[in-house]
Amino acid sequence: PLHDTAGNIVGFHGVTRDITEQKRHRTELLQANEQLARQLQEIQELQSRLQEQAIRDGLTGLFNRRYLDETLPREISRAKRDGYPLAVIMMDIDHFKQINDTYGHPGGDEVLKSLGAVIRQGAREGDIACRYGGEEFVIVLPHMGIEAALVRAEKWRMELEATQVRHGDFNIRFAISAGVSGYPYHATSHENLIECADLALYIAKKGGRNQVTCFEPPVESS
Ligand code: GH3
Ligand code: MG
Ligand code: MG
Repeated sequence: PLHDTAGNIVGFHGVTRDITEQKRHRTELLQANEQLARQLQEIQELQSRLQEQAIRDGLTGLFNRRYLDETLPREISRAKRDGYPLAVIMMDIDHFKQINDTYGHPGGDEVLKSLGAVIRQGAREGDIACRYGGEEFVIVLPHMGIEAALVRAEKWRMELEATQVRHGDFNIRFAISAGVSGYPYHATSHENLIECADLALYIAKKGGRNQVTCFEPPVESS
């Protein structure tokens, strides 16, 4: 305690200092806590952005192939467990090399972007639309039979055929070919399902392009 000249107690210096220090301490702790919370939120935001980037194609905004490879087996398992069909549409832009040659690579990129937008617009929740390769796309349609998938693919084909892509002074037009396969009718594994759609796509190309083809199982010969 502090005493005056007469010996009376006039204050408790130590205690006062202690309390002031405690207050300062608490404020500092609170500030540090707030800063930590802010940093944690930033990290979480960054993390979900990175996660999103890891499964998306930057140009078209569609899912990437990695995501498809991860998801299709899971989707098939679910379809098997709950007993519903699932269709796969594989599409490829016709004569895309020619589009690049005519309008340049940026022109081709604009076509890819437009295609991505048209596909996204026509997709239902639950559909998985992916950029499978350069100008190849795979759309997985859970709960969809083959007939409905053919109708859907044909609708996309027509929409894309009618799409005009603004690029500088040009309006670029393009077409796609598509192949359709269905679980469980054509295949029960993800590899075979993709392969069936790819084979159907090949037939569509051979048949003159700008068309949709359903996978046809080879006829057994004896
Ligand atoms: P087909 O009708 O048989 O499909 O012929 P195609 O010309 O479309 O097919 P091809 O496989 O010969 O050419 C595909 C082209 O796609 C070649 C490649 O340079 C181009 N390509 C791949 N990725 C991209 C991309 O990200 N941007 C652009 N602009 N072009 C790309
Ligand atoms: Mg092509
Ligand atoms: Mg191709």
